[in-house]
Amino acid sequence: MAQRMNTSQCPLCQRSNHCGVNSDMPCWCMSETFPEGLLEQIPQEQRCISCICQACVKKYQLESGNKAK
Ligand SMILES: [Zn+2]
Ligand SMILES: [Zn+2]
Repeated sequence: MAQRMNTSQCPLCQRSNHCGVNSDMPCWCMSETFPEGLLEQIPQEQRCISCICQACVKKYQLESGNKAK
């Protein structure tokens, strides 16, 4: 069973990332800043291929925000 890279799937939680890149409308990720520490959690081959979902970005921002304070 060959697993194809699913670009509509978040590489971190494997849920739908609701990325708009594959559709006609601009994706929310275009205006979102992805922290470098979050990008580092994605396997190299999946970076810049599938978007991280908004939930994972929010979660990371919360966690790193808590650590900073
Ligand atoms: Zn996710
Ligand atoms: Zn996207």
